[in-house]
Amino acid sequence: MSTFSKEAGAALIEHALSLDCIHCGLCLHTCPTYQLTGNESASPRGRIHLMRAEAEGRIEPDHGFEEAMDSCLLCLRCESVCPAGVSFESMMEDCRDGLDSVRPKGWLVRVVRRIGFGHILPSRRGIRLALGALKLAQVLGLTRVASTLLGARGRALGSLPPVPPRAERQPLNLAAPTPGSESSQAWLMEGCVMPELFGRVNRASATVLAAAGVHCRTHAEHTCCGALHAHNGDLTGARELARSTIIAFESSARIPVVINSAGCGSHMKEYPRLFSDDPEWLERARAFSSRVVDFTEFLAAPERLNPLKSRLGPSQSGTLAFDDPCHLCHGQGVRSAPRTLLASIPGAEVVELEDPEACCGSAGIHSMLRPEDSSALLAEKLEDLERSGAQTLVTANPGCHMQWAGGLTQANSPKQVQHIAEVLAQALKPNAS
Ligand code: SF4
Ligand code: SF4
Repeated sequence: MSTFSKEAGAALIEHALSLDCIHCGLCLHTCPTYQLTGNESASPRGRIHLMRAEAEGRIEPDHGFEEAMDSCLLCLRCESVCPAGVSFESMMEDCRDGLDSVRPKGWLVRVVRRIGFGHILPSRRGIRLALGALKLAQVLGLTRVASTLLGARGRALGSLPPVPPRAERQPLNLAAPTPGSESSQAWLMEGCVMPELFGRVNRASATVLAAAGVHCRTHAEHTCCGALHAHNGDLTGARELARSTIIAFESSARIPVVINSAGCGSHMKEYPRLFSDDPEWLERARAFSSRVVDFTEFLAAPERLNPLKSRLGPSQSGTLAFDDPCHLCHGQGVRSAPRTLLASIPGAEVVELEDPEACCGSAGIHSMLRPEDSSALLAEKLEDLERSGAQTLVTANPGCHMQWAGGLTQANSPKQVQHIAEVLAQALKPNAS
């Protein structure tokens, strides 16, 4: 018997969207969860079939249904190959949000989500306190103990990257640039965990943008775009954070918003979807989303690439391989820009992975919720990297960065992972920054 309390007649998704699927099956063999399990219900086609059956009232969302939806990585590879243009991300986010309101959640999940999503991610102070506590746990060896005692989930905790010293965990605080042409200005969005865990990437991004002739400014208070909320069944929280993000960057309406986190950029480009029933916010969301641009696509435009090229010296990172973050290639359709940037470094040796668009298993918090699946996907990526002969794995997303770094550390590999901004910043000639 179902333990769910869904209101009779209420569908989790918009039925019409599920009708776009023509059941061709082209998505099956590119779907990582189908590859892992061989189960139709763990494939895009199977998941859409289940959602449609639920929307038509033919099935109830029981635990099998919930498992089929929760196991999806939202990597969006199915959208890249689908000939029918199925809006899989939209359906899955709606479905998880609907499930979230009808399924009984354990107290631990409720507490973690209320604190993590409701209080930590939306607040710089909250993030700073949480990362400070994690730092203390790492110094005291508690994360190592957890990784031993708690099995697979503990291993995910133990594989989190070391929290940098406090001196490195500082926001950029770039004041408004001196008045000048708006075409040479940009907002650099710092993100929520980026200033704490990857402050060096934000600094490298600002340095490289400056070398390309861009005057960056940052927002003193803004933190989270809401991507994790949307992907994990909290569309109400995602809308709140989308509104605060739009407001934060609304004052200078023609200046692009550059983001060096592919997952956040992909989500912010889709803000209008969150407000389809709210004409006022839909208009504001459209205006904001049209200004969002990934760091790599912004820099690869000729008017910035040409000045940047004149500042680049030899690569400091050995042989490079770019691994496409899912939300850059599948989510935003950005594929050539990072390769153009790497190829512009004099003498850089760049090799291709055999399957650079396969998911590394990070997928937001998926690596913590489903560590076995995540590890299996990462193992294949590590083998691909090994075969490529690259010394540096290059990424453009913090979740992938942590996933790769954890995998390379566990494998005692001499290879390193760097954000593309770090690779470019290290290649700048000394007088360039
Ligand atoms: S988003 Fe990724 S994991 Fe989910 S169904 Fe599509 S391909 Fe499979
Ligand atoms: S590729 Fe698209 S249309 Fe074909 S089965 Fe998959 S989701 Fe449906």
